[in-house]
Formats: sequence, structure tokens, C-alpha cells
Amino acid sequence: MSIYTINETHDPALQSWVQSANTGESDFPIQNLPFAEFRRSNSSESFRGGVAIGDRVLDLAAVLECSVLDQALNPVLEACAEATLNRFMGMGVAAWSGLRLALSRALRAGSELEESLRPCLVPQSEVEYSLPCVIGDYTDFYTSVHHATNVGKLFRPDNPLLPNYKWVPIGYHGRSSSIDVSGQQVKRPWGQTRAPDQERPGFGPCKRLDYELEVGIYIGPGNELGSSIGLDDAEGHVFGYCLFNDWSARDLQAWEYQPLGPFLAKNFASTVSPWVVTGEAMAPYRTVWTRDAGDPQPLEYLESEQNRASGAIDMRLQVLLQTEQMRQQGAAPVLLSESTFADSYWTVAQMVAHHSVNGCNLRPGDFFGSGTQSGPDDSELGSLLELSEGGKKPITLENGEQRTFLEDGDAVILSGYCEKAGAARIGFGQATATVVANSTGPA
Ligand code: CA
Repeated sequence: MSIYTINETHDPALQSWVQSANTGESDFPIQNLPFAEFRRSNSSESFRGGVAIGDRVLDLAAVLECSVLDQALNPVLEACAEATLNRFMGMGVAAWSGLRLALSRALRAGSELEESLRPCLVPQSEVEYSLPCVIGDYTDFYTSVHHATNVGKLFRPDNPLLPNYKWVPIGYHGRSSSIDVSGQQVKRPWGQTRAPDQERPGFGPCKRLDYELEVGIYIGPGNELGSSIGLDDAEGHVFGYCLFNDWSARDLQAWEYQPLGPFLAKNFASTVSPWVVTGEAMAPYRTVWTRDAGDPQPLEYLESEQNRASGAIDMRLQVLLQTEQMRQQGAAPVLLSESTFADSYWTVAQMVAHHSVNGCNLRPGDFFGSGTQSGPDDSELGSLLELSEGGKKPITLENGEQRTFLEDGDAVILSGYCEKAGAARIGFGQATATVVANSTGPA
């Protein structure tokens, strides 16, 4: 069993007095209640924590101020009112869950707190977001066996998957300084590239700029250096989930990646969606995790009944593209692919347990990328590298434009949701960012 039981906050029949939450189409019905850091757009206000409800943000600093919730929640609200959610993330399941229950009750249709809380709402259309926390360390995993196989095939047609893949949740340490929130402008990176027939590498703008469709994972309390987190305790160390675009410069990557892995091909930009959907909100969408009988079964520290029963998450993921030309023509973004996190070869709990098994400490606000989430089908490929078969097969968009990799002016939009019979549909909002030209190179 998951540490989160399905409780009254998940009841699909719940309605909010915030009418826009009840449409059935909002990403943020009362069953979701995700967290972000926000302030009014273009203001000099402090960023503070907020919770999404319909098309509004419930300002948690204002909720603290008006003092209508149970006073026992004040220490939790004080942490949420800060300009980063690190301290709240470090408080753990009891604090997260207690606040969720109180907010769910306060925002329900018929709540006697409606009049007091109405002034604490701000329209989402009038706010800007920052990163939800200071991300101390960022680790990028590689958990989609479909992605790993597709990419491996491009380099090693006869031996696409390296022998460690099915034993070790593969990852590397990324860079946190260049992670930014949705709305980011991504300047085309410059770097070294070398074609196989060249002796001397060239230097110039990246010509194979790509996105990666990933799930982002925020760590909660974490562990002391020298200790580790057991597989069945891992869920209590995961605060929540977001959408994550881990931009990649494929031509730089191909030249630099051996022997230590990606470096400048990956660390120039990564984009997160502003809202963090909590582990508890996602409890209804957890699902069985299986490992094919013909594959190696996990080593003991990566194996448990709980992980088998509910370790996977059916989080549906989408990538959309809007080119400069589409924007000028007023055309809506087009869907490039859809996949589900449930196809991941490793679960989040296995990532947490593996990351800490050697005594490496995880800290509140640390961040994991799941790795590009591709599925078994051709419509489920989470990067242009895969969609264009390494740049060999351009894809044709609805307006006739073609792409192998991203061009200047292209906006990449990630979205996601969880949906299941007997549960409310909850969404993740969007992670959007636009590629901007860089004709002059490093400044
Ligand atoms: Ca990645």
C-alpha cells in the first residue's frame, strides 16, 4: 500500500465554492491542490506560497494573516508563506497532509470560511511564478527503457541497451542553476561539435536542439549523509511532481559525452511547470509496477511488495509545439506525442532508494528528472531525436512546416494530467519555453 490512503480529499464528488474549479476541465479541481511560489505580475511583492484552485491562486501568506484555519497549522502556513517552499518540503507527510485536509475542507462548497478566504484569492492570469524552492541538487535519471533503446539504436544498432540498464536505475548529476520556471526564453547554445569525418571540431550554434519530456520530482525531508532511504520509506521523502523539459543539444552531446556523460549539451537550460502536485493528490493514480519475467528481477534493495503493488504512476504526458509561423497565423500548438509515466522501467521509490543507498544525502527541494518518457508506440516518443530518427526523417506539421530539430521561435509546451474512472481528473498546468536566436555566440 501507498503511505497515502484514499481519503475525503480525493472524493470525486467534492465541489468548491470557487466555481471555476468545478468545470470538469480545470487542471485544478479541489481534489488537486498543488503548490507554487507566486506574486502579482510585474510587482515588487515578495514571492510566497500559493495553492491552485480553479483559475485562482489561494495566497497562503494571506491565509496565515487572516487566521481562520486551526491555529495548530500556523507553523506549517508560516513555512508556506516564505519565498521558497524548502522548509515546507522538509516538514514531511504529516504537515503536507494536514494542510491539504484543512484547505480541502475550507475550499469546499458550503464551507463557512468562504467569506474570510475569498479575499485571499488572486486570479492566475494576474500572477507570475518563481521556482517553488531553491533546488540544491538536480539528478537526471534515464528510466524509460523505450527511450534508452531508441537512443541506443541510433548509436549502436546491434546492441542498443547497455548491460547495466536493467540492473541499475541509471542517472547522472545535472546542474540546478539553469533550471527555470515555465515562460523561460531559451537562448540557443553554442559549443563544440565534430562530424565523424572531421579531424578538427567546429564551434558554433547548436544545430540539433531538442526537448526532453520528463517528470520532475521534488524531494521532501531527505536523509543524513551516510544514511540511506529504504524502498518502502521512499514515498515519504517525495514532496511532489511537475512537468520538466530538459533541453538538450544533441550535436554537442554526441561529441562530448564520452567517457563521463553529458555536460554542456544538457546544462544550459531546463524548464519546470510552476505547480507541484503532491504525492497525496496523486494517490488515486498509482498503479502496479511489473518487470517482465524474461528481464532481470531487481536486487533486494530495489524490490518490495509495496513497490510492485502501487509503485508506478499513471501520469499522462504530452508535448506540443507552436512555431513562430503558427503563432503569426494564430494557429494553436500541435500535439507531437503523448506517453505515460506508468511505462517507466523504474519507479520513483526505486530512484530514491538507489540514489541514497551509498549514503548520499538528499535534501529538501532537491530535484530529480525522470529521464525522457517515451512509450512503446511511435506516437509516444518524448524527444525530437526519436521522432526524427536522429534527424534522418523530418516530421511534417499540420501547417506544412517540417522539423528535425527545434528552430528559433519554436515554443515547446509540456502538459500532463491524471485521469481514472472513479477519481477526479487532475492536471499539472504547463511547462512552456521558447527558443530564441543567438546569432552572435557567447557574450
Ligand atoms: Ca534528461
